[in-house]
Amino acid sequence: MPLEIVTIPCLTDNYAFLLHNARTKETLLVDAPDAPPIQRALNSRGWALTDILLTHHHGDHVDGLDALRGSARVIGAAADAHRLPSLDLAVSEGDTVKICSETALFFDVSGHTIGHIALHFAKSRVLFTADSLMALGCGRLFEGTAAQMWQSMLKLRTLPDETRICSGHEYTQTNARFALTIEPDNSDLISRVEDIKKTRAANKPTVPSNLGVEKRTNPFLRADNLALQNAYGMTNSDPIEVFNQIRKRRDNF
Ligand code: ZN
Ligand code: FE
Repeated sequence: MPLEIVTIPCLTDNYAFLLHNARTKETLLVDAPDAPPIQRALNSRGWALTDILLTHHHGDHVDGLDALRGSARVIGAAADAHRLPSLDLAVSEGDTVKICSETALFFDVSGHTIGHIALHFAKSRVLFTADSLMALGCGRLFEGTAAQMWQSMLKLRTLPDETRICSGHEYTQTNARFALTIEPDNSDLISRVEDIKKTRAANKPTVPSNLGVEKRTNPFLRADNLALQNAYGMTNSDPIEVFNQIRKRRDNF
């Protein structure tokens, strides 16, 4: 039985996620923006948390932790342990941990912050990216460089197309408007933007998204793509420089 994903809107535009194994009753929470909506999602299903992953130290990802942690195992990056709530398990890139009775692999996806981590469940085809790779976007560079975030994008891009991307915020509509300014003639992007409009008009989350679709439409995964570079007037440029220009333009969009 595949692991079940629940997307929980929190605060203004954050998402927390539950990953649940119906056979073993184990439940992982990814990020703790705010306790009440998460507690309600657990209560309505009769689930209890066995693990909590903190992707990075920002308040909108950790502030609900104390009210939720109970006896759950709290997991975060070793590199960030000094500024995260107290961890029961500190992890680094390449570590594999059994969570919800499935093997999960950690990636360092620094850029938004240094020490930001992502978690991949290969068997269930789920990737938790928070504020690294986002639906049609990526996190702002608060601590890392464009080179670091591009490196993080390249790592995640190696994963299979059918991977579901669980990212940390509902920024997709703004990201979509922005992406169209970079690649106005990308037909995959144009049709995705139409889907996003319908989803948001129905007040539904646009996450999880699909990695294959991100590869074809997300400008931050396409800085080395010839069609994007041509459309952007940066043909044969260093992908890091293209990424940097796009990220800066998004900051002021
Ligand atoms: Zn953040
Ligand atoms: Fe955030």
